[in-house]
Amino acid sequence: MSTSFVPERWIPGARLTGSPAPPHPGPGAPIVGVLSLQGDVIEHLRALRRVRANAVQVKTPDQLASVDALVLPGGESTTIGKLLVRFGLLGPLQARIAAGMPVFGTCAGMILLSDELDQVEEQPLVGGLHVRTRRNAFGRQQDSFDTRIEVVGIDGGPMDVAFIRAPRVVELLHPGVEVLATVEGAPVVVRQGPLWATAFHPEVTGDDRLHAAFVATVAC
Ligand code: GLN
Repeated sequence: MSTSFVPERWIPGARLTGSPAPPHPGPGAPIVGVLSLQGDVIEHLRALRRVRANAVQVKTPDQLASVDALVLPGGESTTIGKLLVRFGLLGPLQARIAAGMPVFGTCAGMILLSDELDQVEEQPLVGGLHVRTRRNAFGRQQDSFDTRIEVVGIDGGPMDVAFIRAPRVVELLHPGVEVLATVEGAPVVVRQGPLWATAFHPEVTGDDRLHAAFVATVAC
């Protein structure tokens, strides 16, 4: 999108992870932001670098305007939603989604991308993905689990993924939403054109195939 943007050449907190940061891919690769208000930011930055995207943090409207695509990380959707409002990012993000920017929401990110939640409590949502989602649908924190699942369009066998107090989609609200994987009959990977969402965390297992598939769709 932007020609003047210079991506960061380091990943904040990389020293905490115990392994060297993946190399910077350099010019020609898409600039993919990670919403960096709360949650699994570093893990996504590193996964995106491993699949040769220019991964950058997004905390401000200017940074949002500079990216070709955005990851909404897992974390706590109520917190991230409130911070989106406080940081003045909610409206600009909704506008970019309406304009067709690719977005990949994982776990809390899936919740935030959903048009509707299966709950009476109100919380700020980004919306755009025409699904109804139930938070904490697989149980409490102690019910979190790792598993391997087949994902439509992802070659090479089942993916290693982590469900951490994960949501699930309970209703598709539009025929344009494709279900790419299910667990217990519930959609856990969905795609609606440029909007991708997973109920699980693909960024903590080192299995980067979904990140690669997403980045492959991003024009720069
Ligand atoms: N349960 C969290 C929420 O409702 C999501 C958990 C996660 O992102 N791992 O926002």
